[in-house]
Amino acid sequence: MSDASPPLAFTLFPLDRADHLRGDAAALEALQARDDARVIPFWRGNPFALVRGDTLEAAFLTGDALKPGSVEMTVFLGLDGETPVFACALNADREPGEEFPLHGLGRFEEMRGLSMQIDPVDASLLATANGVFAWHHKHRFCSNCGAKSDVAQGGWRRICPSCATEHFPRIDPVVIMLITHQDSVLLGRSPNWPDNAYSCLAGFIEPGETLGDAARREAFEEAGVTLGDASYIMSQPWPFPSSLMFGLTAEATSDAIKIDDAELADARWFTRDEIRAVMDGTHPVARTPPDIAVAHHLLLWWLANG
Ligand SMILES: [Zn+2]
Repeated sequence: MSDASPPLAFTLFPLDRADHLRGDAAALEALQARDDARVIPFWRGNPFALVRGDTLEAAFLTGDALKPGSVEMTVFLGLDGETPVFACALNADREPGEEFPLHGLGRFEEMRGLSMQIDPVDASLLATANGVFAWHHKHRFCSNCGAKSDVAQGGWRRICPSCATEHFPRIDPVVIMLITHQDSVLLGRSPNWPDNAYSCLAGFIEPGETLGDAARREAFEEAGVTLGDASYIMSQPWPFPSSLMFGLTAEATSDAIKIDDAELADARWFTRDEIRAVMDGTHPVARTPPDIAVAHHLLLWWLANG
């Protein structure tokens, strides 16, 4: 089953991040001026996608595809072999895809939806750039002194000109738990989800917690379930805008459930046969988490390793 499943989304970043070049502004400028340099345009947080008939493709353009003076910020994504790859955020009041020189090539698309339509390697690249731009957008001012900070290190840092504090792209760690009891797995549904949408329980890790601590606390807070030791299974960047998902598995000490109504509308145990039906789309109540979500892959892992 796992052989036929798609790769875990956003885990296929394809470039050499070339960290040694990020601090060399002259080298980055020279790389960007090269004829073979490629740029991915973004506008208002959305990447540009090429329209090819009925399908969309990631756009790796040359610099002359951007209107002079239209670039607000550039992020150096890395090297594809020898080829430098950048992402550029465009500053424009109107959709730049409707104007020269992008006109007729494609359109700016919301990242999460686009990621399900394009090559998964390209989606990993675009989602990374999307996350970095989202960080810049919300962290323009120094959190230490309030001054406007400057973009540095090829877009991977901000430095405050007033107090010299360095700011790094924020990542918010999340635990997501494949909770088992004997041969069943616990899935829950948030109050604002569709009636048939069930997934693994998850929550942000707090300061001072290990992954296992966070998993045990979240399982108890949300579903009243006490867990034993937790084991790491897989991780996934979820750059909407800045989560890093840690997929764990842990055995519950009993099958008793007491849900927190504010966190969950429902939580229930599903047998292995029921999870197979969920994944096949034949379960009467629940449907699978989307395959771009790590929860989908945790369930596949459980079916394959039972
Ligand atoms: Zn400062």
